[in-house]
Amino acid sequence: HFASVEMTPGDPILGLTEAYLADARPGKVNLGVGIYYDEQGRIPLLRAVHEVEQRLAQEAKPRGYLPIDGLPAYTQGTQKLVFGAESPLLAAGRVATSQTIGGSGALRVGADVLKKALPKAKIAISNPSWENHRVVFIAAGFEVVEYTYYDPQTHGLDFAGMLADLGKLEPGTVVLLHACCHNPTGVDLNAAQWQQVVEVVKERQLLPFIDMAYQGFDQGIDADATAVRLFAASGIESFVVTSSYAKSFSLYGERAGALTFVAADRDEALRVQSLVKRTIRSIYSSPSTHGGALVAGVLNSPELRAMWEQELGEMRERIHAMRAGMVEKLAAHGAPQFAFIQQQAGMFSYSGLSKAQVDRLRDEYAIYAIGTGRICVAALNRSNLDTVAAAVAAVSKA
Ligand code: PMP
Repeated sequence: HFASVEMTPGDPILGLTEAYLADARPGKVNLGVGIYYDEQGRIPLLRAVHEVEQRLAQEAKPRGYLPIDGLPAYTQGTQKLVFGAESPLLAAGRVATSQTIGGSGALRVGADVLKKALPKAKIAISNPSWENHRVVFIAAGFEVVEYTYYDPQTHGLDFAGMLADLGKLEPGTVVLLHACCHNPTGVDLNAAQWQQVVEVVKERQLLPFIDMAYQGFDQGIDADATAVRLFAASGIESFVVTSSYAKSFSLYGERAGALTFVAADRDEALRVQSLVKRTIRSIYSSPSTHGGALVAGVLNSPELRAMWEQELGEMRERIHAMRAGMVEKLAAHGAPQFAFIQQQAGMFSYSGLSKAQVDRLRDEYAIYAIGTGRICVAALNRSNLDTVAAAVAAVSKA
């Protein structure tokens, strides 16, 4: 039956990790990952999460099915994080949120729902974008177009190019936007630029689809939701937000995400939610209990919520410190041209390193990065910072 199945190419990032694990050289560093590591190089288990986990173990609750759209305490908590507790959209009943299998599940369910609701719409994604964005929307049957985003000359945003491209999209096009901590570049818009994007979206009647996988990882929970808050205040009738708790709760494998539709009014929100539920039903029936219970447990306890915010703050401060440290050490090793790393935000930086330089880092220094030059600054720590900076400076010279 399967004789005609050919080998499908593997994920290049996972392939990189395999090569890293097989590398016997001491002091090897993997900057290819998309995970936050602490100063000791471990994936943190947040104390707030651990606390809920212990309480859950004590309670020894049965594991019935969750509703199709998940735990109400989770989806309501998510809405408050995304829009702010006082949001008029929430009061008006215009927001419908579902707990999903990670942010990835939210993207795919969202894409499937949009394909049913708007069969002719295309999707526009940034150039570059997280590789899976293209994969997911193509799998859902979308035609994918790109808008200008990154400027390799400045290692920053080509904002004029972005606005011009958005201004040329066909009305009704879905526009995928990264709320903050753009993956893979680390290049974000400021509030004034977001406001201009809101105006173009309104004028061209585009449908914003905001992927928020790193809320709280750059400036804070509310500041990192600036894009969402501006769209919410804009009078635009409908948009979509996907959330992931993988990074902000350090819950990668629990697959805790959310899909949120904003609709014109309460009735429309209910109808859209019915389509979302039907779509989820056709894929995996209902989400899993554990990750949702952890996030809901933290968000709905004032004490644990404060503890989580503190821990989230520590993660983002460590990222900022690693960015500053990297820039300083690179300059000390004779490579002052990397100052832009401190302007970029979140876990990733488009370092500007070429494929050949990335290959040299691996072959000569046991430092692993992605061929595009994307490095994970959240994998840096005080013990590997100097080695990495020295190696990057060395391969950047010749
Ligand atoms: N969107 C972006 C931009 C991401 O970087 C990621 C995670 N790498 C996701 C969505 C999906 O996150 P999850 O692990 O929750 O599926």
